[in-house]
Amino acid sequence: MNSVKQLIDEARASGLPSLEARLLLSHAGGLSRTRQLAWPDTVLSTEQAGQYRDLLRRRNEGEPVAYLVGSREFFSLEFIVSPAVLIPRPETELLVELALARLPLERACSALDLGTGSGIIPVSLRKHRPLLDMRAVDISEQALAVAMRNAERHATPILLGQSDWYSALTDERFDLIVSNPPYIAHADHHLAEGDLRFEPRNALTDEGDGLVHIRRIVGEAPAYLRPNGWLLFEHGYDQAAASRDLLNAAGFDQVQSWQDLAGIERVSGG
Ligand code: GLN
Repeated sequence: MNSVKQLIDEARASGLPSLEARLLLSHAGGLSRTRQLAWPDTVLSTEQAGQYRDLLRRRNEGEPVAYLVGSREFFSLEFIVSPAVLIPRPETELLVELALARLPLERACSALDLGTGSGIIPVSLRKHRPLLDMRAVDISEQALAVAMRNAERHATPILLGQSDWYSALTDERFDLIVSNPPYIAHADHHLAEGDLRFEPRNALTDEGDGLVHIRRIVGEAPAYLRPNGWLLFEHGYDQAAASRDLLNAAGFDQVQSWQDLAGIERVSGG
C-alpha cells in the first residue's frame, strides 16, 4: 500500500531527510505537508506513488529539491524556480531585510536589482513597499522569463529588462541598488558539490577571483544612485573586507557589513 507514512519511511531509509521527502510527496501527490502530517494513512494512487519514487531517485542522484518540484519558499513567499535560475537561499533574506529598512513605506521611492535571477529580491521588496518603483535586470533572457512569472504570480509590478549589470540603463538614478551577484571564485571546490552542480554556472561564479562582478557593481554604482542612496549587496563568506575596501574606494560613506544567521558577514553596503 502506498500510504503517506510508508512513502516517507521509504525515502528516509534511502537517506533523505523527511522535510525533503515531504516536499517531493506534496509535489507528486498533491498533498500539503500539513495534510501529510495530519493524515499519514492517506493512500496515494499507483501513478502518484510512481511519480514520487521517480522524484526520490532523481533526488538521490543529486538533483536539487527546488528544481524537482519547481518552487522554493523565500521571505514567506512561494517562488517558481527552474534550472535557468539560482535556487533562492535563506542568506539572501538578510539582504531583503536590510533593503526594506532603507525604503520608506509611505513615500514613493525607487530601487534597482542587478542580476535578478528568479526575481525573489524585487518581488519581496515590492510586496512590502507598494509605492516602490522597482526595476530589475538580468543578462539571461531565460532568467527574466522566470522573474516575470514570479512578478505575475505575486501581483507585484516590476519593470524587468535585459542588461549586463548597468549597461542598458541610461540616466536613471535610484534610492537603492541591491544585488546578489555571482561571487564564487572559479577555483572554489564548492562549485563541484551539492546543489551547485545543477545551478547555472554564470549565476554562481564570475570565472575569476569572485570579486569581478562586485568591483563593477560597486565602481559604477555612484553614477546610478540618488543623493543619500544606498548600495547593498551579498557576497561570499570571506569577501566582506574586500567589499568594504571597494565601497570606500568608490566614495561611499557609512560603509558596513552585516552578519547572516550563521554569524558570517554576508552583506555589505554604504
Ligand atoms: N538575485 C537572485 C537571488 O538572489 C539571483 C542571484 C544569482 O543568480 N546570483 O537568488
